[in-house]
Amino acid sequence: MIKSLPTKHLLLIAAVSILLAIVLIAVPEEKSTNNTISVEASFEVIDQSKLVFQDLKKPIPNSKVASSTSLPLNETNYIYEIPTPDTLVKKNSPPTFKTQSVEVKAGDSLSKVLSSEGVTAQDIYKVSLADKTQKTLLQMRPGQTLNFTTNETSSELTQLTLTLNRLDSVTFERNGDKFDRKEASRTPEITQTYKEAEINNSLFVDGLKSGIDQPLLIELANIFGWDIDFALDIRKGDSLSVLYEEKFLDGEKIGHGNIIATQFINNGRTFQAIRYETKKGANYYTPDGLAMRKAFIRTPVDFTRISSKFNPNRLHPVFKTTRPHRGVDYAAASGTPVKAAGDGKISFAGKQNGYGNVVIIDHGKGYQTLYAHLRGFARGTKRGARVQQGKIIAYVGQTGWATGPHLHYEFRINGTHKNPVTVKLPNDDPMPKSDLKNFLPYAQEVVTTLTESHSPSFAQKLALLKN
Ligand SMILES: [Zn+2]
Repeated sequence: MIKSLPTKHLLLIAAVSILLAIVLIAVPEEKSTNNTISVEASFEVIDQSKLVFQDLKKPIPNSKVASSTSLPLNETNYIYEIPTPDTLVKKNSPPTFKTQSVEVKAGDSLSKVLSSEGVTAQDIYKVSLADKTQKTLLQMRPGQTLNFTTNETSSELTQLTLTLNRLDSVTFERNGDKFDRKEASRTPEITQTYKEAEINNSLFVDGLKSGIDQPLLIELANIFGWDIDFALDIRKGDSLSVLYEEKFLDGEKIGHGNIIATQFINNGRTFQAIRYETKKGANYYTPDGLAMRKAFIRTPVDFTRISSKFNPNRLHPVFKTTRPHRGVDYAAASGTPVKAAGDGKISFAGKQNGYGNVVIIDHGKGYQTLYAHLRGFARGTKRGARVQQGKIIAYVGQTGWATGPHLHYEFRINGTHKNPVTVKLPNDDPMPKSDLKNFLPYAQEVVTTLTESHSPSFAQKLALLKN
């Protein structure tokens, strides 16, 4: 370090050191707590001399020294005013701090990162104590950043920040003998964006081509998924338009926000969905205020194939007699989770002859669903328990009269068996009347914005579709 300093600075350091030596000798009562004057102490002075360099940069006018000087300086020489010892030596030098930034890697823990940078185990313990409720530091993940500041003299940790993502961070600030924990979140700027796409291959292929990113396409598929089977129903010439929010941070796009409104024309049928928030949360509704979400999911299991269709006049595979098949059989591996098709209350969970292990759910308004041949039940599946749509209630098996692992699923309305594959599923609970009053004019406004955003060629195509 000393080598890199210009020669004149070296001279100054020498001068300063001598001055300091004088001061130290002259003022013996100013004993430092250390018994010895260590090498570090004199480095402190060099550090302080930075202040002096600042002062020395101002040469005293009219004091040019002739170039014949014996000093081996190669630039114009000045006579510098050397400050008096009192301004040089302070009783306590101000502490200097070092801030470091470390990216968390796989297998890193707080103590691993900090201890390798010289932070004491005691300080690491104190920080984790401040985080003991939230445990954010325990859950830090690769790619996140740790910034921390230590006192260079005492190596005491003074501040630590874990940056979780571009928006959120947690800071631990030393407060005496403990640390205070503080969370911070930045708010991204939100703008409205419009995109449109003609679907000729699939929602995903053509959506991506039109600049709609994948997470947004997945959301769109979920919004319309109650009405459109994106694997089977898509026709060449279908069209999609969407009004949504984009999030920006420091002028850079960091992701999308909510889908405000969207329209999909599938095989001549128009579906429009508008996001609206009620006391029950945010949901998507038709412009008339009907929920896009249906009260039931169509298939309560991820199946490989339908092994037996709904058929009131079927020949039973085991009994070889005419026995109606009043449900649908979904072949699936043994152990595949079975979900509740809709919100409701379990009215039966147990064994019934031919059904084997069976669950029956009452959904109210005369709707009932039945799940049979189960290998076993999920925790909490018992008579009287309330379930929500999509909750795992049991697992596929082949108990009862079954020739292979499958789910036998029945859908009953007021006691009558309906074909679960084709039955018209009721919409989810309608929007409360008090919300509807505000929603209807809002929906109209948003749909107008969406329509007015259509490009001329897109609008022309839609007009042709409607004729
Ligand atoms: Zn069956």
